[in-house]
Order: sequence, then structure tokens, then C-alpha cells
Amino acid sequence: MTASAHNRILRRFSSQYRQSAKCVTVISPHFDDLPLSLGQSLRNGALASCQVRERVVFGRSTWTEWVSPAAERAAPITLWRRAEEVAASMMFGFDWSAAQWPEALLRNGAAFGPEMLDPAKDLSAEILIPEIAGWLQAVATVAQRPNRPPPALLLVAAGLGGHVDHRLVAQAAAGLVGHIDVPIGFYEDRPYVTYLSTAQLSEQLASLGVELEAVDVSPKVQASTQAAARLCYPSQMKPFFREAMDLDRANGAVERVWFPVGTCPDWFGA
Ligand SMILES: [Zn+2]
Repeated sequence: MTASAHNRILRRFSSQYRQSAKCVTVISPHFDDLPLSLGQSLRNGALASCQVRERVVFGRSTWTEWVSPAAERAAPITLWRRAEEVAASMMFGFDWSAAQWPEALLRNGAAFGPEMLDPAKDLSAEILIPEIAGWLQAVATVAQRPNRPPPALLLVAAGLGGHVDHRLVAQAAAGLVGHIDVPIGFYEDRPYVTYLSTAQLSEQLASLGVELEAVDVSPKVQASTQAAARLCYPSQMKPFFREAMDLDRANGAVERVWFPVGTCPDWFGA
């Protein structure tokens, strides 16, 4: 365990820290999206000084790198993925819970795979968007746990790269901008964002229908942070993920959150 992770765990049990740190709820479409997309921010960026609670949306999964994603394997694979999330929550210092929506391959069958990453797919008739929006509204207003306030900030995956589950969550949150009291920021989805050109990124963000500006929330992504994520999620590490990590280091990438213009809280940022 890294020293910074150890310090974060110690701080979580300090009453003085609990009273002063801002509560941030991060909406993670799947197990793994939070550490992959905001791991550096958790370790020594904007989230390092916050009490972070992750809410996983699609908490039922059949997806691993190891076996075909058959529906009858959902129970043991979900259990395995929950174990990976426990490891990550200790390594990166956050609390978490998971809702029980089935992820795309479980809803639609394994044959849906080729359609899963499509940034242009029309989702306007998707019944899951209002369902998830209602859940997000509740998540934004309830205390993260007893004796804590509701979140001061909601961070939601931006849906970059076109994964249908990420886009459903992003669209649900975009519809709440201006309708709930809590500010909402949209974080860049890793590994997908690594492979996008600036033009693709702008085009995909535009589909949210909100005018957005980027805020850097971490220093440059470090090899040790990537190694920690790989260690926590062995079931998910396909070459696509590892190559994105190499590219991020080569490009000096930082993690970013896109806020509706003028709405980033002044206490949040790298
Ligand atoms: Zn995901």
C-alpha cells in the first residue's frame, strides 16, 4: 500500500478531518471506472482532500477478460468484481456502494458486444435514462452515510468513447443540470478518452446538450497510480487498457472534469 493511501485511511477515521473535508459522490458506471478515470486525483489531486463515496450504477456484471460473458455467470462474476472494488477502495481511499442495474452485456446478451461502443447511437428512447436520473436525484440529496452531509459535488462519467452504459449515466445526469442544487461535473472516461482526438472529444461532449468547460483535477498521471489500478482489477486488464495507460504517460495526460460553465466549486481543482 502506498504511503498516501495509508494516510488517507488514517484521515478517514479522524473526526477533525471528517468535519472539514468536503463530501464528493462519484458516479461510476461500472466497478473500476472511478480509479481508472480519477485515480490520480484520489491520490494527490482534487479528490485527495475530499471524502469520496462512489456509487456504482451497473452493479451486476458478467464481464471479465477470463471467460465468455454468459448470463448464468453473473452471480460469481459480480462477486469477484465487488471484491476487486473492495481492494481498490482500500488502495485509493474511498467508500462505495453499488446499485443493481445489469450492465449492457447482461441486459442485451453477449452478441451485443460489437454495438457497445457507439458514440452516435440514439439513446433518446432509452427507458433507463429517466430511471437512472431519478436515482441520481436521490443520491444527490441523501447523506453519504450517518452523520455526514449530502454530497457537495456530484461527479459523473462524461460518456466519452461511446460505451452505452457510460452514455446512459451521462445523459441522465445532463438532464439534471440546473434542476438540482448540487453542482455536477462530468469526468473524462478512461481508458476511452485517451484514444479520442480533440474534435471527437468536443463532438461527444456536445451530445450532452450543456455548455462545458474543463478543469484539471490531477497532476500528470503517474505509473505508480496506473500500476495500483492494474493490481486492483486483474479481471479487466485487456491490452486496450494497458496501451491507454502507456499513451497517457507518454502524453503527460492529466485527469479532467468538465463543468457547466461557471459552476465548478471554488474549493475543487488541482
Ligand atoms: Zn465502465
